[in-house]
Amino acid sequence: MSHLLIEGIPGEETRVPHPDEVRVEGHTSSTVEDDPKLREECGVVAIHGHPDAARQTYLGLYALQHRGQESAGIATADGTSLSNIKGMGLVADIFTEEVLAKLNGNMAIGHTRYSTTGDSALLNAQPIRVDSTKGLIAIAHNGNLVNLGNVRAKLEREGAFFQTTSDSEIIVQLIAHSREGTLVDAIADSLRQVDGAFSIVMMTRDRIFAARDPRGFRPLSMGRITNPDGPDTIVFASETCAFDLLRAKFERDVQPGELVMVTRDGVTSRQYSTGIPQSSCIFEHVYFARPDSKIFNRWVQESREEMGRQLVRESHVDADLVVPVPDSGVTAAIGYAAESGLPFRFGLIRNHYVGRTFIEPEQRVRDFGVKLKLNPVRNLLEGKRIILVDDSIIRGTTSRKIVRMVRAAGAKEVHLRISCPPTISPCFYGVDTPRKKDLIAANNSIEEIRRYIEADSLAYLSLEGLQKACDGGEGNRYCIACYTGDYPTQWVDVEDILPAAAAVR
Ligand code: SF4
Repeated sequence: MSHLLIEGIPGEETRVPHPDEVRVEGHTSSTVEDDPKLREECGVVAIHGHPDAARQTYLGLYALQHRGQESAGIATADGTSLSNIKGMGLVADIFTEEVLAKLNGNMAIGHTRYSTTGDSALLNAQPIRVDSTKGLIAIAHNGNLVNLGNVRAKLEREGAFFQTTSDSEIIVQLIAHSREGTLVDAIADSLRQVDGAFSIVMMTRDRIFAARDPRGFRPLSMGRITNPDGPDTIVFASETCAFDLLRAKFERDVQPGELVMVTRDGVTSRQYSTGIPQSSCIFEHVYFARPDSKIFNRWVQESREEMGRQLVRESHVDADLVVPVPDSGVTAAIGYAAESGLPFRFGLIRNHYVGRTFIEPEQRVRDFGVKLKLNPVRNLLEGKRIILVDDSIIRGTTSRKIVRMVRAAGAKEVHLRISCPPTISPCFYGVDTPRKKDLIAANNSIEEIRRYIEADSLAYLSLEGLQKACDGGEGNRYCIACYTGDYPTQWVDVEDILPAAAAVR
């Protein structure tokens, strides 16, 4: 309870600390891996028209925990007040029964976060609640704005006072400074002024809004819980896997460039931006989204299995077993095994109780690295030629450790297959990628990478193969910038993004 920020609940409010003051005990230290996977930074949920909206949002966030484990928050509204509680850590650790009981109202928005822009302090946890000229607004945002430096400077010249270092607050400040007469017009006006990736949910005292950026980088879906005795509950979530826990029925995706408003009178929608080509993040299908989600109108499980099948068509070698690097390589490995006719075995076991971060008792614990997380099943691997399937190689250090681990367990040959093309360029749209200089594929040939990771052979899925696997006839157009270096928005350097965040410290 000591690390919660509470806003809008009389008698319970906690002071909002400045970022410099925030020190969260037991949270930072170091990561388990020195070569972590690329990380998504957010999942969002919104609920309209449910007597226990906070608990429904909690369940939705619980299902989206894989999209961010650093902080979480829930804001609720009951027509007159707007309360907000957020904290550092996992959803279930923050929102105990006691905390959920403080959040009243039949509307709620929620957020789970891994930060990219703005520091990682509690202050920047979301939802962000701002008392603006347009009234109280809470916002939760998945994605990353790319023109925030310019927009922030302009707003500050016009007198805006930022409460956080998060880029999401820029959208609220733009709404507050908009000259449009109605709130919905002001929101549309502000969304037209920002560039980059944003799937957002917003809430006032009596309305919920949901919107996606014109290119549709990040997913956002709408669902419905049918209530026989009254108006239906309308639900929004980053991924449809959240609907299953809520027993909501998937209705449709929020479209790129669409702004949806939900009031007690029902759902209305407008297209606030048109004519910009879709570029949804293909890496959602490769790694981020759960296989039981349908995003960009396509099941992730189907895409991943097809990636594995396509890998066989492109680069199969003779072997005895297909082994996934769990968990993210599992679905592609199933596809690989089905297409190649080779047996699929869990030759590496993941310890699910190792968190993303942990407190190191001593520095030497760090040397355990991947061993803390994965352990080989020696009797499966011994004397076998192994096809190891993983979803990406970022710096190469983790892949090398895994290849060594499989070989040390007795494998005769280790052939690594990657279910996407080489990652050669960083992402500016909400994915935490290392700089180009640290991306192994940006600076080395595939043969050099193979030698570094010590595999007998290495093959990546081709770009055409990936696009084919993620299309499935749905006609989606994807962002592939991290594989090509060709960005769908104006090119920005990460250095351009960070100073705006640093400016208010
Ligand atoms: S650059 Fe890569 S990770 Fe980023 S949005 Fe595009 S496809 Fe996704």
